[in-house]
Amino acid sequence: MRLAPLLSACALLAACTPEVGPELTVEENLATPAETGKGGGTALSVDPTVQPNATGIGYNGGPVMLGTPDVYYIWYGNWSGNSATTILPDFMANLGGSPYFLINTTYYDSAGRHVTGSVNYAGAVSDNYSQGKALSDARVQAIVSRAITSGALPSNANAVYFVLTSSDVTLSGFCNGFCGWHTHATIGGRDIKYSFVGNPEQCPRSCAPYANPGPNGNTGADGMASILAHELEETVTDPDLNAWTDSAGENADKCAWKFGTTYAASNGGTANMRLGARDYLIQQNLDASNGKCETKLPGTPPPPPPPSDGPKVTVLGPSAGTIIHAGGPLDITASVTDPVAVSSVTVSWVAPSGTTQFTTTKNAAGNWELTTTLSTSAQAGTRSFTVTARDANNKTATSPSVTLTVQ
Ligand SMILES: [Zn+2]
Repeated sequence: MRLAPLLSACALLAACTPEVGPELTVEENLATPAETGKGGGTALSVDPTVQPNATGIGYNGGPVMLGTPDVYYIWYGNWSGNSATTILPDFMANLGGSPYFLINTTYYDSAGRHVTGSVNYAGAVSDNYSQGKALSDARVQAIVSRAITSGALPSNANAVYFVLTSSDVTLSGFCNGFCGWHTHATIGGRDIKYSFVGNPEQCPRSCAPYANPGPNGNTGADGMASILAHELEETVTDPDLNAWTDSAGENADKCAWKFGTTYAASNGGTANMRLGARDYLIQQNLDASNGKCETKLPGTPPPPPPPSDGPKVTVLGPSAGTIIHAGGPLDITASVTDPVAVSSVTVSWVAPSGTTQFTTTKNAAGNWELTTTLSTSAQAGTRSFTVTARDANNKTATSPSVTLTVQ
């Protein structure tokens, strides 16, 4: 889909079709201002030279990653004080098994064994510029090799090693040809899958164009979450660059920079999914069972409503026009729904001689009971009340006014 950028990346790197050799690096995932998610009709085209199928992507017969792949992070450069080191481990710990990542279960190998959609975040190490600040593809591999051969990280062929570079680290092509890539190499006698993901703070317009402000308040990390998801789903379905790929790229390439339905996260940033306790804006992935770009596997549960929805308050009783009496009880029942915890429910009812105090309890049905006893001197006439709820995100909602008759 990213026609001009991809072609230029191919010309520059001569590394776009997996048929040319096993050491090829798949480089992709560039967003430029010219391709802000408006994908053309060619996104699902299939290269006629590979095995055609109805999935929107060609399969070349190679392996997929089975079982539960491990994911390791290598924090390269200076990440001191950066909330990315909290956000991105949390992201990966909640990605496996999510309705989003289960889209990868539509991919399988030549024996019919499917990708499970499980992922295990297995830990991280830091690398303090062992290869300098100006990286090459070979130096990225050296970073991975050093982490494994030093024993800092285990040698694991069913894992993906992510080299995450701080915003002061450069790599030829990053920001103007790609935002991340994945490949594989023999390291220590094993077929090691690894990926480069740079910090888009270096080029937010190219690599985090929708993440400002990101839903987690960190433009670089919010952009990296989407690129990490993209590279990981390509790696589990095409680890050796000879499985699910064709001339238009791998699975995530077909849906690059498409986000589907979005919502406003609690900080105002744009998001399209919630994983664990955080919201993210993650590019869609290709469902090989129907050839469509999706945010979640069809049939999986809908995501919980976003916290920005706030409370919804409905007064269940008393109904308008109900007659109440001076010196008698006033019992109000209200239903409050909220995707996050409700912190308070209050009644606005102004008595002739000051504010009336209500006792608030939650009943067995989960509704809120707000009770008081009217003053014996309550004046006859009509009087109105509203119920206001406040939640853990400090969002409030107030019911429509209900008018009662005091006799
Ligand atoms: Zn890609």
